[in-house]
Amino acid sequence: MIIIMKPQATEEQIGSLCQSLQGAGMQVQRNAGVDCTVLGVLGDVARLDPHDFLIQPGVERVMPVSEPFKKANRKFHPTDSVIDCGGVKVGARKLALFAGPCSVENYDQITDTALKVRASGANILRGGAYKPRTSPYAFQGLKLEGLALLEQAKAITGMPICTEIMSPKLVEEFDRRVDVIQVGARNMQNFDLLTELGQTRKPILLKRGLSATVNEWLMSAEYIMAAGNPNVILCERGIRTFETYTRNTLDLSAVQAVKRLSHLPVIVDPSHATGLNWMVERMSLAAIAAGADGLIIEVHNNPPCALCDGAQSLTPPQFAQLVGKIAAMAPIVERTL
Ligand code: PEP
Ligand code: MN
Repeated sequence: MIIIMKPQATEEQIGSLCQSLQGAGMQVQRNAGVDCTVLGVLGDVARLDPHDFLIQPGVERVMPVSEPFKKANRKFHPTDSVIDCGGVKVGARKLALFAGPCSVENYDQITDTALKVRASGANILRGGAYKPRTSPYAFQGLKLEGLALLEQAKAITGMPICTEIMSPKLVEEFDRRVDVIQVGARNMQNFDLLTELGQTRKPILLKRGLSATVNEWLMSAEYIMAAGNPNVILCERGIRTFETYTRNTLDLSAVQAVKRLSHLPVIVDPSHATGLNWMVERMSLAAIAAGADGLIIEVHNNPPCALCDGAQSLTPPQFAQLVGKIAAMAPIVERTL
């Protein structure tokens, strides 16, 4: 971190700032410029909040020179992380395809959809048992019964299962029963939940918050990692902008930003990003071209009857067609399916 003092800063102000930084365990390099003093602060600066220094007497400007996240930072882990999700590697050359319905509705729906997406090449089954809904009157998911149905679908298909957690109270239950625990966009900054998930070693699919910056998203990953769990997969799922034509705005540049800043795998959810099933195919291909390590796609065996997000769900044949196109495109971006 660099602190630039005002030209009129007194020797006393500079000295007392240096002392308090040293007292906090930092090393301070003092450089006298032509018209102001510049302090270079070294050490565990992630613990400091740059804003706190702006109100110190004599301080003109504070410039962080390194990112506040460490364990998620590529600087400290230059190679790409590969996360083992119940036998499926996410972050390697082979693309990960998570697919399945928005929510688990009944035995036939989840097993039929699972068998169909597996036949097309999906390697992880998604399905919500606990659903974060805007309205308390909307279908909230089958909860524990939904988890049991996912387990049955796993037994039939052999696919690892990914489902969303909403409460820190359920971490132990999910850790036992699920292969990938999803943290939804609305819970990206539920720090108690993130810290609790950090106590496990389970892969965590961390969705980007509706209005989260890349930095905030990576800081949430850092919460999980700092608590001890290195197995984090990031998921870009669109952000809120002024645009209302699509459900959200798919921020594909974030894939590249995150890949540059972090070693963690990143996948893309074109279903929640667009809210429109006809847009999912093109946005999926764009995501792979943008460097995503995989996709999470909503597929329902009968979208018009879906209890949640039917409008953005692909039918199994549409999903099969999409996978064929991804397979054709993958080698161009040095990927396989
Ligand atoms: C979901 O994947 O089912 C979901 C609710 O997504 P998001 O948290 O991205 O809205
Ligand atoms: Mn959904």
